[in-house]
Amino acid sequence: MANQKVMSMDLERYVTEMRRLGYCREKRTDYVCMCPECKARHKNDPTYRNLKLYIDKDMQYGHCFVCGLVVLSDDQSINTQVKRIEPKVDMNNWQICKLGSEGYWTLDRWNEFDEDDEEGINYLTHKRLYIYRKLYKLVGIKFKDHNPVVPFYYKGQLVYYQMRIIDPNSKMKYYSPHTEHKNPYILESGENKKFVICEGTFDAIACKILYPDRTPFAVLGSDITDYQIAMLRTYCPEDILIYMDKTEISRRIKDRIMEYINYADININPSDGTDPEEFLKHKLVMQAEESEYD
Ligand SMILES: [Zn+2]
Repeated sequence: MANQKVMSMDLERYVTEMRRLGYCREKRTDYVCMCPECKARHKNDPTYRNLKLYIDKDMQYGHCFVCGLVVLSDDQSINTQVKRIEPKVDMNNWQICKLGSEGYWTLDRWNEFDEDDEEGINYLTHKRLYIYRKLYKLVGIKFKDHNPVVPFYYKGQLVYYQMRIIDPNSKMKYYSPHTEHKNPYILESGENKKFVICEGTFDAIACKILYPDRTPFAVLGSDITDYQIAMLRTYCPEDILIYMDKTEISRRIKDRIMEYINYADININPSDGTDPEEFLKHKLVMQAEESEYD
């Protein structure tokens, strides 16, 4: 057949909808439904009800015997073993939201920030963790007026940055340039499908040391947004550990993620109010004390 069309859709959902509208007959191995293509061609004819789209009961494949349309289940290309949940919000048109080229805080500005800054490095090593002396370059931190600036990458591409304001008198601790969506901070490691979700950029860096086999994913707040979940989905995570500084926040985030990702193992690291960076700091101090007695 010439110009045979192929489309993918959620077949289960389509059959349910057609049944509701009375455009579906059940056969032994198939559901026979109204074809979306044929229906569109006869949109001026309300009496048209030629049911010729045969959808197999495995919900993987369908074929119209009038127009030749072939429909495939939209989850075939991702994973044939599990049925994905249909997200409440459309995540198929998800797009990365990068820092723009307009205004003062542009993506290009990143190139102007300083590679080294003794005051900034002192802040990192004395006020946060001494291991930053070596670590800051590994995670790509630069400096602007002594303030450490943390770069955000998505699939290897710089998309955003956030600044830690080190002036103790500043009310604002972090400066996050405005974008339409709040980007998560992800310390990517290739195709890794094991994640650890935490709150802030420095928690994420601490998590990289505490859980070297996981990709840290910081939500920069006490909740995870739809945009961030859509982004997380693009990695097809298999195993997610949630480590926020309060267990109840971790639980809430777990519930949110489970609405959209049902194929991953999702666990919580209980916390008494200590965040991952504080936990790591404590651990490093203990190790240092122990080593003094060796
Ligand atoms: Zn058709």
